Amino acid sequence: MEKNRKIKTFHISTYGCQMNLADSSTLVAGLITRGYRRIADESQADLIILNTCSVRDKAEQRILGRLGEISAYKRKRPYLRVAVVGCMAQRWGDKLLEKAPHVDYVLGTDRLFELPDVLEGIEGTSPVMTAFGHENMDALAPAMETSFAAFVTISRGCSNFCSYCIVPYVRGEERAHSADGIVDSIKRLVDEGVVDVTLLGQNVNSYRYGECDFPALIERIAGETDIQRIRFMTSHPKDLSRRLVDVMAAEPKMMPHIHLPLQSGCDRILQMMGRGYTLQQYRQIIDYIRRRLDYVSLTTDLIVGFPSETEAEYQQTLRAVREIRFDAAFMFRYSVRPGTAAAGYRDDVSEEDKIRRLNQLIDLQQQIGAECNQREVNQVRYGLIEGVSRRSRRYLRARTESNKTVLFSADGRLSPGEIVPVRIAEADAYTLHGQLEEAN
Ligand code: SAM
Ligand code: SF4
Repeated sequence: MEKNRKIKTFHISTYGCQMNLADSSTLVAGLITRGYRRIADESQADLIILNTCSVRDKAEQRILGRLGEISAYKRKRPYLRVAVVGCMAQRWGDKLLEKAPHVDYVLGTDRLFELPDVLEGIEGTSPVMTAFGHENMDALAPAMETSFAAFVTISRGCSNFCSYCIVPYVRGEERAHSADGIVDSIKRLVDEGVVDVTLLGQNVNSYRYGECDFPALIERIAGETDIQRIRFMTSHPKDLSRRLVDVMAAEPKMMPHIHLPLQSGCDRILQMMGRGYTLQQYRQIIDYIRRRLDYVSLTTDLIVGFPSETEAEYQQTLRAVREIRFDAAFMFRYSVRPGTAAAGYRDDVSEEDKIRRLNQLIDLQQQIGAECNQREVNQVRYGLIEGVSRRSRRYLRARTESNKTVLFSADGRLSPGEIVPVRIAEADAYTLHGQLEEAN
């Protein structure tokens, strides 16, 4: 009896990238519409959902660790249901049930939105579903991040097949949402009070729906909606066009931030990674961006210890980072992903060398990030207030045009969702600190 108790409440944990956060928001909205209640305390939930990441082995190990903890809950509360959804569910399929028999539902990246149907045993659904080709692209609601900033997924999957990357296997090939659907979603979000949207895709620059490519999509969103701030991620250097940069330069709604993963500063490694550009081509894009946009923040992703990467080749990555001067970077050590092309190469850089290279790279980037942020000092930036600082309630936290976090003292008059001028007074590698610039 207790075992078959009806599910009323759920708790969701999300791992990995913004795309997963966006998927979780869409799933949460679907569950709430069907009458389920989201709760913050996992130990009280009837259903625990893990929306998972497979991009590195460490991410999967962490989730397996969490599943171990959850199995202890289940012994105490036999009615508890456990759903593993997203990338790891896609990769493992029913093999996950051998590893973690207390898991009840395994829904892949195309099927997670069907969770409410699965819970209700609707015909045609089953507890393990990973086949592609089932999603209804237009029925997927845009995801809300807060009540005034939202992620809008413009494309799902990826067709680039970078040799190290699991994403095309677990998320399928790239498919685009219709431009009309995206514009309508953003209009609806604006009506609900959203002022800032981030357009999401694994490679937004290759977006195409009929005649509409990515720069044209941005022009439509800027022209046809009253959204105040438009952002996008992630860009791919082989597809980022000069026309997109020109649109950014001409359109005040476009926020000056580009996340452009370089991955390596060595052409031989870039070629083995299947990235489709050389360091020189990457530099040319950066030069064009910096020529056309007076103020822009550039961030990147970097991998160290790719198979066969020599010390000298790794040094080329350090040199590129010193030369290009990114505002911030996500830095990783290479992790073999079964089934990818690079899994066929010998993973011959020792863990010790990977860790040393990564730590050195992080130290260098931290210093450069701090120097880039120092250049913000004395400038006035317009911050969208997100809430109070996580460290001290005396400070408000806002996001600047270039996607940096700025903290400033609050006097009780301001509230989340407002865009306010802040004069930057101090900066470290990760955060800006400032004061509200009072209007004269
Ligand atoms: N589509 C985006 C892109 O192209 O950058 C994001 C892909 S992935 C979720 C985010 C980052 O994880 C990649 O840019 C890459 O730096 C890193 N990554 C992917 N596979 C990896 C692997 N096998 N080992 C280490 N890092 C990896
Ligand atoms: Fe992975 Fe490359 Fe696609 Fe990014 S562009 S998701 S790194 S395959």
